[in-house]
Amino acid sequence: MSVDAQKETLGFQSEAKQLLQLMIHSLYSNKEIFLRELVSNASDAIDKLRFESLSDADLLGGDVNLGVRVDLDEDAGTITISDNGIGMTRDEAIANLGTIAKSGTAQFLDALTGDQQKDAQLIGQFGVGFYSSFIVADKVVVETRSARSAESEGVRWISIGEADFEIETIERAARGTSVTLYLKADEKDFADSWRVKSVIKKYADHISVPVEMLKEEMPVADAGEEGEEGEEGEEKEVEVQVEYEAVNSAQALWTRSRSEISDEEYQEFYKYVSHDFQDALTWSHNKVEGKLDYTSLIYVPSKAPFDMWQREAPRGLKLYVQRVFIMDEAEQFLPLYLRFIKGVVDSNDLSLNVSREILQKDPAIDSMRTALTKRALDSLEKLAKKDAATYQSFWEEFGQVLKEGPAEDFANKEKISKLLRFTSTTSDSEVQNQSLTDYISRMKEGQDKIYFVAAENYHTAKNSPHLEVFRKKDIEVLVLTDRIDEWLMNQLVEFDGKQFQDVTKGSLDLGDLDDEEAKEEQEKVEKEFKSLLDKIKEVLEDRVEEVRITHRLTDSPACLVVNDDEMGMQMRRILESAGQEVPETKRIFEINPEHPLVNKLNDEQDMDRFKDLSLVIFEQAMLAEGSSLDEPASYVQRLNKLLLELSA
Ligand code: ADP
Ligand code: MG
Repeated sequence: MSVDAQKETLGFQSEAKQLLQLMIHSLYSNKEIFLRELVSNASDAIDKLRFESLSDADLLGGDVNLGVRVDLDEDAGTITISDNGIGMTRDEAIANLGTIAKSGTAQFLDALTGDQQKDAQLIGQFGVGFYSSFIVADKVVVETRSARSAESEGVRWISIGEADFEIETIERAARGTSVTLYLKADEKDFADSWRVKSVIKKYADHISVPVEMLKEEMPVADAGEEGEEGEEGEEKEVEVQVEYEAVNSAQALWTRSRSEISDEEYQEFYKYVSHDFQDALTWSHNKVEGKLDYTSLIYVPSKAPFDMWQREAPRGLKLYVQRVFIMDEAEQFLPLYLRFIKGVVDSNDLSLNVSREILQKDPAIDSMRTALTKRALDSLEKLAKKDAATYQSFWEEFGQVLKEGPAEDFANKEKISKLLRFTSTTSDSEVQNQSLTDYISRMKEGQDKIYFVAAENYHTAKNSPHLEVFRKKDIEVLVLTDRIDEWLMNQLVEFDGKQFQDVTKGSLDLGDLDDEEAKEEQEKVEKEFKSLLDKIKEVLEDRVEEVRITHRLTDSPACLVVNDDEMGMQMRRILESAGQEVPETKRIFEINPEHPLVNKLNDEQDMDRFKDLSLVIFEQAMLAEGSSLDEPASYVQRLNKLLLELSA
């Protein structure tokens, strides 16, 4: 006897243990999903076998009718899901059923709150799997044999869903896997044929693999004579051949025509491909014929996956070639900024032995990617038009990712720009729900730029002194507070022929919005204040590049701006906080000639006090834009000195 045959008890990996407990406790309201998960695993196993048999026909042996069977034993209270797919070796069973290989599992578990309802949502996004068996079963027995192993190398895996599982080597004639659930006392109705059939119909109708159950036993044919020939009847029953029938229609959903498929079916299929719990927001199903021949069905989920920001997180579509499953997570069909899209693509052009490496090089993939990208963006645009509230919920989940788009996908810049949502001085709320098209429709006559302000958070941005003149003239300004925003604006440059303009950059030129008279007036003031400006520059030395009169302030005494070609301050703060060296930015200090403090400064004869007041005004401008001071303590000292003098 080989060592392998020994019975071993092994512990679950600690993440697996945690997930298992969580599953049992939080998915109660949705317990029937275990059937979806087990049938989907069985169907995956069949897909894998079919795929591998393309290069190794012997794997199939004589057992060529691939399918899933569900058997019930009401007396024993069990349900068994069997497949004749790829199966598992002993090592595979230990690894696949005892550990969780998903990247980011630890972070996922860290994100859990302990609140069952919230955690149930999270686990839905994480993707439930084999462990969902334990929602309804207190003992699970898996028997399996790999398509590559001998009959003597079958495996039995048993667990009661606590800390560990038992594994032993068994004889097993059949290739593939059967999973038997010993149902908990109050879940026995999952051994009821009618109940199980309806659940399977719901969850597995659209998968291409047949899911079979025993045919209902028909009343004996000569039922009329039952009374007389009772005994014979019983004998007949024993002879009855067990007969299975498919309970699903076993036609891959995407191969059917759109008009035949109900929304419910689309949603069920979404849950099957995505392992998500919740409905998709929208989808796009297309058959392409001509130079390229393929079908795609892509979905926009309603919730962001927990690992959306992880670089190595799996993404991409399920790839089929001529209905044969080839791979999960084929990432070549969509750009990174659409990584949240789920779905399938089924090509008739690719070869069955296509690999990831080939996908990367195949020019046909590039055109499919272009088309699928367009389709995804179109369906978002359609959603935005048709149902603003739903689009808004999409934006809240995925807006940040979509903002990566203009940089990654220059060709679709305009299309993506239309999908962006912002908060603005007009909407007067932190919610990002204004489109650029909305903004343009509200532009003032003579306005030729799209103005924006970027800051650390909404309140800093909104109260920025740079906005004062815009408020006065009632010109809308986009308020940007996401870290990616300033970078995004650098990519966008313009929309619909209108340039974007950072209100904290450059000399303010409101274009035709300023009348001639005002311009003349400004020039006069500039001459008048020339000597004050020089004096302030002397005090501030190289802290600023230039001191000048401003036209953008109404209420504040001063503000800081940078030249158009310099990096914005928000971007600078982000880079600095990420530990990057950023070249010195040349700041321009602008003062408001109308402000009483500036007038006081202009009249000030005492040089010490002039210095203090100039510095305080400068430092306040720093604070107002969200920058921190090099020497906050000296600022406080100076300010207190001035306050005391004032109250003396
Ligand atoms: P997922 O399906 O997302 O990988 P599961 O928890 O559902 O996660 O399954 C874990 C792993 O166990 C699968 O990836 C697969 O390797 C293996 N497995 C589960 N069920 C079967 C089966 N019926 N046949 C072969 N392998 C299986
Ligand atoms: Mg699974």
